[in-house]
Amino acid sequence: MTTDLRFDQMRLPEECEALRQEVRAFLAQEVAAGTFDPDRAAHGDGGNPAFSRRVGGKGWIGMTWPKKYGGQERSFLERYVVTEEFRVANAPVRLHFVADRQSGPILIKYAPEHVKMDILPRICRGEVCFAIGMSEPGSGSDLFAAKTKATRTDGGWLINGTKIWTSNAHLADYMLGLFRTSPPTKENRRHGLTQFLVDMKTPGITINPIYQMTGLHDFNEVVFEDAFMPDDHVLGEIDGAWKQATSELAYERSGPERFLETFYVLIELVRALGPKPDLRSAEGLGRLVAQLHTLRRMSVSVNGMLQSGKEPVVEGSIVKDLGTVWEQKLPARVRELAAFVEPEVTNRATLEEQLAFATTIAPKLTIQGGTTEVLRGIIARGLGLR
Ligand SMILES: Cc1cc2nc3c(=O)[nH]c(=O)nc-3n(C[C@H](O)[C@H](O)[C@H](O)COP(=O)(O)OP(=O)(O)OC[C@H]3O[C@@H](n4cnc5c(N)ncnc54)[C@H](O)[C@@H]3O)c2cc1C
Repeated sequence: MTTDLRFDQMRLPEECEALRQEVRAFLAQEVAAGTFDPDRAAHGDGGNPAFSRRVGGKGWIGMTWPKKYGGQERSFLERYVVTEEFRVANAPVRLHFVADRQSGPILIKYAPEHVKMDILPRICRGEVCFAIGMSEPGSGSDLFAAKTKATRTDGGWLINGTKIWTSNAHLADYMLGLFRTSPPTKENRRHGLTQFLVDMKTPGITINPIYQMTGLHDFNEVVFEDAFMPDDHVLGEIDGAWKQATSELAYERSGPERFLETFYVLIELVRALGPKPDLRSAEGLGRLVAQLHTLRRMSVSVNGMLQSGKEPVVEGSIVKDLGTVWEQKLPARVRELAAFVEPEVTNRATLEEQLAFATTIAPKLTIQGGTTEVLRGIIARGLGLR
Protein backbone atom coordinates (compact mmCIF):
# COMPACT_ATOMS: atom_id res chain seq x y z
CA MET A 1 0.00 0.00 0.00
CA THR A 2 1.35 3.47 -0.84
CA THR A 3 1.41 6.22 1.76
CA ASP A 4 0.78 8.95 -0.82
CA LEU A 5 -2.87 9.50 -0.02
CA ARG A 6 -3.30 12.79 1.83
CA PHE A 7 -5.73 15.62 2.35
CA ASP A 8 -3.78 18.77 3.21
CA GLN A 9 -5.34 20.86 5.97
CA MET A 10 -6.77 23.84 4.15
CA ARG A 11 -9.07 26.73 4.91
CA LEU A 12 -10.37 29.17 2.37
CA PRO A 13 -8.24 32.34 2.54
CA GLU A 14 -9.55 35.79 3.53
CA GLU A 15 -10.00 37.10 0.01
CA CYS A 16 -12.50 34.30 -0.60
CA GLU A 17 -14.88 35.75 1.98
CA ALA A 18 -15.02 39.15 0.25
CA LEU A 19 -15.67 37.36 -3.03
CA ARG A 20 -18.37 35.22 -1.41
CA GLN A 21 -20.21 38.35 -0.29
CA GLU A 22 -19.90 39.82 -3.78
CA VAL A 23 -21.30 36.64 -5.36
CA ARG A 24 -24.16 36.50 -2.85
CA ALA A 25 -25.07 40.13 -3.56
CA PHE A 26 -25.05 39.45 -7.31
CA LEU A 27 -27.22 36.35 -6.92
CA ALA A 28 -29.65 38.17 -4.61
CA GLN A 29 -29.99 40.87 -7.25
CA GLU A 30 -30.67 38.26 -9.94
CA VAL A 31 -33.28 36.55 -7.75
CA ALA A 32 -34.93 39.93 -7.03
CA ALA A 33 -34.99 40.65 -10.77
CA GLY A 34 -36.78 37.32 -11.37
CA THR A 35 -33.96 35.61 -13.29
CA PHE A 36 -34.41 32.43 -11.25
CA ASP A 37 -36.10 31.19 -8.10
CA PRO A 38 -33.67 29.49 -5.67
CA ASP A 39 -36.57 27.52 -4.17
CA ARG A 40 -37.64 25.98 -7.48
CA ALA A 41 -34.71 23.60 -7.97
CA ALA A 42 -37.30 21.00 -8.91
CA HIS A 43 -37.81 22.72 -12.24
CA GLY A 44 -34.28 21.88 -13.37
CA ASP A 45 -31.68 24.14 -14.94
CA GLY A 46 -32.54 24.74 -18.58
CA GLY A 47 -29.81 27.38 -18.90
CA ASN A 48 -30.20 31.13 -19.32
CA PRO A 49 -28.04 32.83 -22.01
CA ALA A 50 -28.45 36.37 -20.62
CA PHE A 51 -27.57 35.21 -17.10
CA SER A 52 -24.46 33.37 -18.34
CA ARG A 53 -23.33 36.57 -20.08
CA ARG A 54 -23.81 38.58 -16.89
CA VAL A 55 -21.78 35.98 -14.95
CA GLY A 56 -19.10 36.30 -17.65
CA GLY A 57 -19.28 40.08 -17.26
CA LYS A 58 -18.41 39.68 -13.57
CA GLY A 59 -15.28 37.70 -14.52
CA TRP A 60 -16.55 34.48 -12.94
CA ILE A 61 -16.15 32.15 -15.92
CA GLY A 62 -12.63 30.95 -16.67
CA MET A 63 -11.56 32.95 -13.65
CA THR A 64 -8.34 30.93 -13.13
CA TRP A 65 -7.26 31.19 -16.78
CA PRO A 66 -4.55 33.47 -18.22
CA LYS A 67 -5.65 37.07 -18.84
CA LYS A 68 -4.66 36.88 -22.49
CA TYR A 69 -7.47 34.37 -23.01
CA GLY A 70 -10.03 36.45 -21.16
CA GLY A 71 -9.40 34.90 -17.72
CA GLN A 72 -8.71 36.65 -14.42
CA GLU A 73 -5.73 34.61 -13.15
CA ARG A 74 -7.52 34.12 -9.85
CA SER A 75 -7.07 31.07 -7.63
CA PHE A 76 -8.86 27.72 -7.70
CA LEU A 77 -10.07 28.44 -4.20
CA GLU A 78 -11.75 31.63 -5.39
CA ARG A 79 -13.35 29.64 -8.20
CA TYR A 80 -14.45 27.16 -5.54
CA VAL A 81 -16.39 29.85 -3.71
CA VAL A 82 -18.15 30.98 -6.89
CA THR A 83 -19.12 27.40 -7.80
CA GLU A 84 -20.35 26.72 -4.29
CA GLU A 85 -22.51 29.84 -4.07
CA PHE A 86 -24.04 29.31 -7.51
CA ARG A 87 -24.85 25.69 -6.73
CA VAL A 88 -26.38 26.39 -3.34
CA ALA A 89 -28.52 29.15 -4.88
CA ASN A 90 -29.69 26.79 -7.68
CA ALA A 91 -28.55 29.39 -10.21
CA PRO A 92 -28.87 28.44 -13.92
CA VAL A 93 -25.26 27.62 -14.85
CA ARG A 94 -25.97 24.92 -17.43
CA LEU A 95 -24.80 26.91 -20.44
CA HIS A 96 -21.36 27.85 -19.16
CA PHE A 97 -20.43 25.35 -16.46
CA VAL A 98 -18.93 22.52 -18.54
CA ALA A 99 -16.76 24.93 -20.54
CA ASP A 100 -15.62 26.61 -17.33
CA ARG A 101 -14.86 23.41 -15.47
CA GLN A 102 -13.31 21.17 -18.07
CA SER A 103 -13.48 22.10 -21.78
CA GLY A 104 -11.63 25.43 -21.39
CA PRO A 105 -8.72 23.91 -19.41
CA ILE A 106 -8.35 21.20 -22.09
CA LEU A 107 -8.29 23.81 -24.87
CA ILE A 108 -5.68 25.83 -22.94
CA LYS A 109 -3.45 22.76 -22.84
CA TYR A 110 -3.97 21.27 -26.27
CA ALA A 111 -5.60 23.64 -28.82
CA PRO A 112 -3.57 25.63 -31.37
CA GLU A 113 -3.03 29.25 -30.31
CA HIS A 114 -5.43 30.80 -32.86
CA VAL A 115 -8.22 28.46 -31.73
CA LYS A 116 -7.58 29.42 -28.10
CA MET A 117 -7.62 33.12 -28.96
CA ASP A 118 -10.93 32.64 -30.77
CA ILE A 119 -12.85 30.47 -28.32
CA LEU A 120 -11.52 31.02 -24.78
CA PRO A 121 -12.49 34.73 -24.53
CA ARG A 122 -15.99 33.82 -25.72
CA ILE A 123 -16.25 31.17 -23.01
CA CYS A 124 -15.16 33.75 -20.44
CA ARG A 125 -17.85 36.16 -21.68
CA GLY A 126 -20.46 33.42 -21.15
CA GLU A 127 -21.28 33.23 -24.85
CA VAL A 128 -20.61 29.58 -25.68
CA CYS A 129 -21.82 26.23 -24.38
CA PHE A 130 -19.77 23.01 -24.50
CA ALA A 131 -20.69 19.33 -24.42
CA ILE A 132 -18.51 16.28 -23.72
CA GLY A 133 -18.61 13.52 -26.33
CA MET A 134 -17.01 10.50 -24.71
CA SER A 135 -19.59 7.78 -23.98
CA GLU A 136 -20.92 5.57 -26.76
CA PRO A 137 -23.40 2.74 -26.85
CA GLY A 138 -21.17 -0.05 -25.54
CA SER A 139 -18.38 2.14 -24.16
CA GLY A 140 -19.11 4.22 -21.09
CA SER A 141 -16.79 3.29 -18.26
CA ASP A 142 -14.46 1.68 -20.74
CA LEU A 143 -13.75 4.76 -22.85
CA PHE A 144 -10.93 3.03 -24.66
CA ALA A 145 -13.49 0.81 -26.42
CA ALA A 146 -14.81 3.90 -28.29
CA LYS A 147 -15.62 3.12 -31.93
CA THR A 148 -16.75 6.43 -33.43
CA LYS A 149 -14.23 6.86 -36.20
CA ALA A 150 -12.23 9.81 -37.51
CA THR A 151 -10.87 9.02 -40.99
CA ARG A 152 -8.28 11.17 -42.78
CA THR A 153 -9.51 13.31 -45.67
CA ASP A 154 -8.19 16.45 -47.46
CA GLY A 155 -7.41 19.10 -44.83
CA GLY A 156 -8.97 17.21 -41.97
CA TRP A 157 -11.05 14.27 -40.82
CA LEU A 158 -14.46 12.71 -41.43
CA ILE A 159 -16.31 11.51 -38.34
CA ASN A 160 -18.75 8.59 -38.38
CA GLY A 161 -20.47 6.92 -35.43
CA THR A 162 -22.63 7.64 -32.39
CA LYS A 163 -22.07 9.26 -29.02
CA ILE A 164 -24.62 8.85 -26.25
CA TRP A 165 -25.65 10.48 -22.95
CA THR A 166 -24.18 13.73 -24.26
CA SER A 167 -25.38 16.35 -21.79
CA ASN A 168 -26.21 19.72 -23.36
CA ALA A 169 -25.54 18.60 -26.96
CA HIS A 170 -28.85 20.21 -27.97
CA LEU A 171 -27.69 23.53 -26.52
CA ALA A 172 -23.98 23.33 -27.26
CA ASP A 173 -21.92 25.36 -29.71
CA TYR A 174 -19.00 22.94 -29.37
CA MET A 175 -18.22 19.45 -28.18
CA LEU A 176 -14.92 17.97 -27.10
CA GLY A 177 -15.14 14.53 -28.69
CA LEU A 178 -13.05 11.40 -28.36
CA PHE A 179 -12.75 9.55 -31.68
CA ARG A 180 -10.91 6.53 -32.99
CA THR A 181 -8.13 7.48 -35.38
CA SER A 182 -6.33 4.08 -35.33
CA PRO A 183 -7.04 0.60 -33.99
CA PRO A 184 -5.66 -0.23 -30.55
CA THR A 185 -2.32 -2.04 -30.58
CA LYS A 186 -1.58 -5.41 -28.97
CA GLU A 187 0.72 -3.73 -26.45
CA ASN A 188 -1.57 -0.81 -25.64
CA ARG A 189 -5.36 -1.08 -25.89
CA ARG A 190 -5.62 2.62 -25.02
CA HIS A 191 -3.76 3.62 -28.18
CA GLY A 192 -5.65 5.02 -31.18
CA LEU A 193 -8.01 7.62 -29.75
CA THR A 194 -7.76 11.34 -30.48
CA GLN A 195 -9.51 14.33 -28.94
CA PHE A 196 -11.24 16.79 -31.30
CA LEU A 197 -12.94 20.13 -30.99
CA VAL A 198 -16.29 19.73 -32.75
CA ASP A 199 -18.30 22.67 -34.04
CA MET A 200 -21.86 21.46 -33.44
CA LYS A 201 -23.14 23.34 -36.50
CA THR A 202 -21.06 21.09 -38.79
CA PRO A 203 -23.22 19.37 -41.45
CA GLY A 204 -23.55 15.63 -40.78
CA ILE A 205 -24.31 15.92 -37.04
CA THR A 206 -27.79 14.86 -35.84
CA ILE A 207 -28.86 15.34 -32.23
CA ASN A 208 -31.62 13.09 -30.88
CA PRO A 209 -33.05 13.89 -27.42
CA ILE A 210 -33.03 11.42 -24.52
CA TYR A 211 -35.37 12.34 -21.67
CA GLN A 212 -34.58 11.87 -17.99
CA MET A 213 -36.98 10.17 -15.57
CA THR A 214 -37.92 13.70 -14.49
CA GLY A 215 -39.21 14.36 -18.00
CA LEU A 216 -36.46 16.94 -18.53
CA HIS A 217 -34.31 16.98 -21.63
CA ASP A 218 -30.71 17.09 -20.38
CA PHE A 219 -28.88 14.67 -22.58
CA ASN A 220 -28.83 13.23 -26.10
CA GLU A 221 -27.67 10.77 -28.66
CA VAL A 222 -25.36 12.46 -31.21
CA VAL A 223 -24.97 10.81 -34.61
CA PHE A 224 -22.05 11.69 -36.91
CA GLU A 225 -22.32 10.96 -40.63
CA ASP A 226 -19.26 12.14 -42.60
CA ALA A 227 -19.00 15.23 -40.38
CA PHE A 228 -15.86 17.15 -41.40
CA MET A 229 -13.37 18.32 -38.75
CA PRO A 230 -10.49 20.54 -39.89
CA ASP A 231 -6.93 19.63 -38.89
CA ASP A 232 -6.63 22.54 -36.48
CA HIS A 233 -9.47 21.05 -34.43
CA VAL A 234 -7.31 18.11 -33.38
CA LEU A 235 -6.45 18.56 -29.69
CA GLY A 236 -3.08 17.21 -28.67
CA GLU A 237 -1.45 14.08 -29.92
CA ILE A 238 -3.09 11.98 -32.66
CA ASP A 239 -3.78 8.48 -31.24
CA GLY A 240 -2.51 9.62 -27.84
CA ALA A 241 -5.63 11.00 -26.13
CA TRP A 242 -5.18 8.51 -23.29
CA LYS A 243 -2.16 10.49 -22.13
CA GLN A 244 -4.27 13.63 -21.90
CA ALA A 245 -7.23 12.32 -19.97
CA THR A 246 -6.09 12.11 -16.37
CA SER A 247 -4.80 15.44 -15.10
CA GLU A 248 -8.15 17.29 -15.44
CA LEU A 249 -10.04 14.56 -13.62
CA ALA A 250 -9.28 15.87 -10.14
CA TYR A 251 -10.92 19.20 -11.10
CA GLU A 252 -13.91 17.46 -12.57
CA ARG A 253 -14.41 15.21 -9.58
CA SER A 254 -13.66 17.24 -6.52
CA GLY A 255 -15.79 20.39 -6.80
CA PRO A 256 -18.69 21.31 -4.53
CA GLU A 257 -21.12 20.41 -7.34
CA ARG A 258 -20.22 16.77 -6.57
CA PHE A 259 -22.07 16.76 -3.26
CA LEU A 260 -24.50 19.67 -3.50
CA GLU A 261 -26.79 18.55 -6.31
CA THR A 262 -29.64 17.61 -3.95
CA PHE A 263 -28.66 20.07 -1.19
CA TYR A 264 -31.94 22.00 -1.56
CA VAL A 265 -33.85 19.20 0.22
CA LEU A 266 -31.69 19.70 3.31
CA ILE A 267 -32.36 23.45 3.29
CA GLU A 268 -36.08 22.82 2.90
CA LEU A 269 -36.01 20.33 5.78
CA VAL A 270 -34.25 22.85 8.05
CA ARG A 271 -37.00 25.37 7.19
CA ALA A 272 -39.71 22.81 7.85
CA LEU A 273 -38.30 21.67 11.20
CA GLY A 274 -38.00 25.28 12.34
CA PRO A 275 -35.73 26.77 15.02
CA LYS A 276 -36.66 24.19 17.71
CA PRO A 277 -36.61 20.72 16.17
CA ASP A 278 -37.38 17.80 18.48
CA LEU A 279 -34.44 15.74 19.73
CA ARG A 280 -34.63 12.99 17.08
CA SER A 281 -34.85 15.45 14.21
CA ALA A 282 -32.01 17.53 15.63
CA GLU A 283 -29.86 14.40 15.92
CA GLY A 284 -30.62 13.38 12.31
CA LEU A 285 -30.04 16.87 11.00
CA GLY A 286 -26.81 17.21 12.97
CA ARG A 287 -25.51 13.99 11.50
CA LEU A 288 -26.21 15.14 7.94
CA VAL A 289 -24.63 18.54 8.49
CA ALA A 290 -21.54 16.95 10.08
CA GLN A 291 -21.16 14.65 7.06
CA LEU A 292 -21.60 17.57 4.69
CA HIS A 293 -19.01 19.59 6.60
CA THR A 294 -16.51 16.74 6.34
CA LEU A 295 -17.09 16.37 2.61
CA ARG A 296 -16.60 20.09 2.16
CA ARG A 297 -13.33 20.06 4.09
CA MET A 298 -12.08 17.23 1.88
CA SER A 299 -13.20 18.98 -1.27
CA VAL A 300 -11.59 22.30 -0.25
CA SER A 301 -8.44 20.37 0.57
CA VAL A 302 -8.28 18.82 -2.92
CA ASN A 303 -8.81 22.23 -4.50
CA GLY A 304 -6.08 23.68 -2.31
CA MET A 305 -3.73 20.94 -3.44
CA LEU A 306 -4.63 21.66 -7.07
CA GLN A 307 -3.87 25.32 -6.44
CA SER A 308 -0.41 24.41 -5.18
CA GLY A 309 0.30 22.42 -8.35
CA LYS A 310 -0.30 18.91 -7.06
CA GLU A 311 -2.35 16.29 -8.93
CA PRO A 312 -4.58 14.69 -6.28
CA VAL A 313 -6.36 12.32 -8.67
CA VAL A 314 -7.06 9.66 -6.04
CA GLU A 315 -8.16 12.19 -3.42
CA GLY A 316 -10.46 13.81 -6.04
CA SER A 317 -11.97 10.41 -6.80
CA ILE A 318 -12.60 9.84 -3.09
CA VAL A 319 -14.45 13.18 -2.88
CA LYS A 320 -16.61 12.24 -5.85
CA ASP A 321 -17.31 8.76 -4.53
CA LEU A 322 -18.25 9.85 -1.00
CA GLY A 323 -19.93 13.05 -2.24
CA THR A 324 -22.20 11.48 -4.84
CA VAL A 325 -23.19 8.59 -2.56
CA TRP A 326 -24.05 11.15 0.14
CA GLU A 327 -26.09 13.41 -2.13
CA GLN A 328 -27.81 10.33 -3.56
CA LYS A 329 -28.89 9.12 -0.12
CA LEU A 330 -29.86 12.59 1.09
CA PRO A 331 -33.44 12.65 -0.32
CA ALA A 332 -34.30 9.34 1.38
CA ARG A 333 -32.77 10.53 4.67
CA VAL A 334 -34.64 13.82 4.47
CA ARG A 335 -37.88 11.97 3.75
CA GLU A 336 -37.40 9.93 6.94
CA LEU A 337 -36.77 13.08 8.97
CA ALA A 338 -39.72 14.82 7.30
CA ALA A 339 -41.94 12.36 9.16
CA PHE A 340 -41.31 14.53 12.23
CA VAL A 341 -42.36 17.74 10.47
CA GLU A 342 -45.62 19.26 11.71
CA PRO A 343 -48.30 18.72 9.02
CA GLU A 344 -49.24 22.40 8.93
CA VAL A 345 -45.76 23.88 8.20
CA THR A 346 -45.96 26.42 5.42
CA ASN A 347 -43.28 24.90 3.18
CA ARG A 348 -44.72 21.35 3.22
CA ALA A 349 -45.70 21.47 -0.48
CA THR A 350 -42.28 22.81 -1.52
CA LEU A 351 -40.54 20.15 0.56
CA GLU A 352 -42.62 17.41 -1.09
CA GLU A 353 -41.99 18.83 -4.57
CA GLN A 354 -38.23 19.08 -3.92
CA LEU A 355 -38.13 15.56 -2.48
CA ALA A 356 -40.01 14.08 -5.44
CA PHE A 357 -37.59 15.72 -7.88
CA ALA A 358 -34.43 14.88 -5.91
CA THR A 359 -35.56 11.24 -5.58
CA THR A 360 -35.98 10.99 -9.35
CA ILE A 361 -32.56 12.46 -10.16
CA ALA A 362 -30.74 10.55 -7.40
CA PRO A 363 -29.92 7.39 -9.42
CA LYS A 364 -27.87 9.34 -11.98
CA LEU A 365 -25.60 10.94 -9.40
CA THR A 366 -23.34 7.92 -8.98
CA ILE A 367 -23.12 7.34 -12.76
CA GLN A 368 -22.37 10.76 -14.27
CA GLY A 369 -18.67 11.61 -14.46
CA GLY A 370 -17.60 8.03 -13.68
CA THR A 371 -19.51 5.34 -11.76
CA THR A 372 -18.94 4.53 -8.10
CA GLU A 373 -17.50 1.11 -8.94
CA VAL A 374 -15.06 2.53 -11.46
CA LEU A 375 -13.98 5.28 -9.06
CA ARG A 376 -13.36 2.70 -6.36
CA GLY A 377 -11.20 0.78 -8.82
CA ILE A 378 -9.16 3.95 -9.40
CA ILE A 379 -8.88 4.56 -5.67
CA ALA A 380 -7.83 0.96 -5.03
CA ARG A 381 -5.17 1.21 -7.73
CA GLY A 382 -3.96 4.53 -6.32
CA LEU A 383 -3.62 2.92 -2.90
CA GLY A 384 -1.69 0.03 -4.40
CA LEU A 385 -4.44 -2.45 -3.57
CA ARG A 386 -4.87 -3.82 -7.09
C1 LIG B 1 -26.79 12.37 -16.01
C2 LIG B 1 -25.70 11.84 -16.88
C3 LIG B 1 -25.00 12.70 -17.70
C4 LIG B 1 -24.00 12.20 -18.53
N1 LIG B 1 -23.37 13.08 -19.36
C5 LIG B 1 -22.41 12.61 -20.20
C6 LIG B 1 -21.79 13.50 -21.12
O1 LIG B 1 -22.06 14.69 -21.16
N2 LIG B 1 -20.86 12.99 -21.97
C7 LIG B 1 -20.52 11.67 -21.97
O2 LIG B 1 -19.66 11.29 -22.75
N3 LIG B 1 -21.11 10.80 -21.11
C8 LIG B 1 -22.06 11.25 -20.23
N4 LIG B 1 -22.67 10.37 -19.37
C9 LIG B 1 -22.37 8.95 -19.47
C10 LIG B 1 -21.57 8.41 -18.31
O3 LIG B 1 -20.25 8.89 -18.35
C11 LIG B 1 -21.64 6.88 -18.43
O4 LIG B 1 -22.98 6.50 -18.26
C12 LIG B 1 -20.78 6.22 -17.39
O5 LIG B 1 -19.42 6.44 -17.66
C13 LIG B 1 -21.06 4.70 -17.31
O6 LIG B 1 -20.99 4.12 -18.57
P1 LIG B 1 -22.15 3.15 -19.11
O7 LIG B 1 -23.45 3.86 -18.94
O8 LIG B 1 -21.77 2.70 -20.47
O9 LIG B 1 -22.18 1.93 -18.11
P2 LIG B 1 -21.14 0.72 -18.08
O10 LIG B 1 -19.76 1.23 -18.25
O11 LIG B 1 -21.62 -0.33 -19.02
O12 LIG B 1 -21.32 0.23 -16.61
C14 LIG B 1 -22.41 -0.60 -16.20
C15 LIG B 1 -22.14 -1.05 -14.77
O13 LIG B 1 -20.93 -1.81 -14.71
C16 LIG B 1 -20.03 -1.25 -13.78
N5 LIG B 1 -18.65 -1.35 -14.28
C17 LIG B 1 -18.21 -1.04 -15.52
N6 LIG B 1 -16.87 -1.20 -15.61
C18 LIG B 1 -16.46 -1.64 -14.40
C19 LIG B 1 -15.19 -1.97 -13.85
N7 LIG B 1 -14.06 -1.90 -14.57
N8 LIG B 1 -15.13 -2.36 -12.55
C20 LIG B 1 -16.26 -2.43 -11.79
N9 LIG B 1 -17.50 -2.13 -12.27
C21 LIG B 1 -17.60 -1.73 -13.54
C22 LIG B 1 -20.43 0.20 -13.66
O14 LIG B 1 -20.05 0.77 -12.43
C23 LIG B 1 -21.94 0.13 -13.82
O15 LIG B 1 -22.53 -0.17 -12.58
C24 LIG B 1 -23.67 10.82 -18.52
C25 LIG B 1 -24.36 9.97 -17.68
C26 LIG B 1 -25.37 10.45 -16.86
C27 LIG B 1 -26.09 9.50 -15.97
